[in-house]
Amino acid sequence: MSRRLWLASLNAHKAEELGRMLVGHNVEVLSLASRPDIGEPPETGATFEENALQKARFVFEATGEPALADDSGLEVDALGGAPGVHSKRFTPEATAASNNRALLAALDGVNHRRARFVCALALVSKLGEEVVRGTVEGEIGHAPRGEGGFGYDPLFLPVDAPGRTMAELSPQEKDHISHRGRAVAHLPNLLADLL
Ligand code: IMP
Repeated sequence: MSRRLWLASLNAHKAEELGRMLVGHNVEVLSLASRPDIGEPPETGATFEENALQKARFVFEATGEPALADDSGLEVDALGGAPGVHSKRFTPEATAASNNRALLAALDGVNHRRARFVCALALVSKLGEEVVRGTVEGEIGHAPRGEGGFGYDPLFLPVDAPGRTMAELSPQEKDHISHRGRAVAHLPNLLADLL
């Protein structure tokens, strides 16, 4: 019998990626979209781990069932780790296009373009809570390229896919190297411990 697991994300792109990666784990993935009464989980922590735990705890408390949450973002070395936990709202418009424009402007004339995507994944159930992290290293490009993925993907050149942006990878290629994919690799242990 598959076990029920709430996905504590209203971000359709992230829910789609996580849902895809959860196939084969013998879990029935439930979406917050089906429970508008629960509302949006809070996200006020200073780290990806704090935010992921905060979101998973909120959904576990609202549903009484195991909840999985992702908090993720982009850390750019030349910007002291920004946008970091503020990746979604790097600009007031909070759209991918405006965020990517702002990132290019912030790095105008900067040669050192090292960056990484980080994903913290938290699982909370009545048995306890755990949080794991996945990262992918790369560089920020000079112009957006590619139609896949979401967010900063068109500007991110992963070291694991030389010459291509994250938005130029197939969904399977992205899952294989992405911060979210690497965090999900810990999932069998989390599910064994907490479900
Ligand atoms: P969160 O919903 O607070 O975790 O915000 C995550 C934000 O980080 C997103 O809105 C994107 O801007 C960025 N982000 C996270 N994961 C990815 C990814 O896989 N590709 C591109 N951008 C990402």
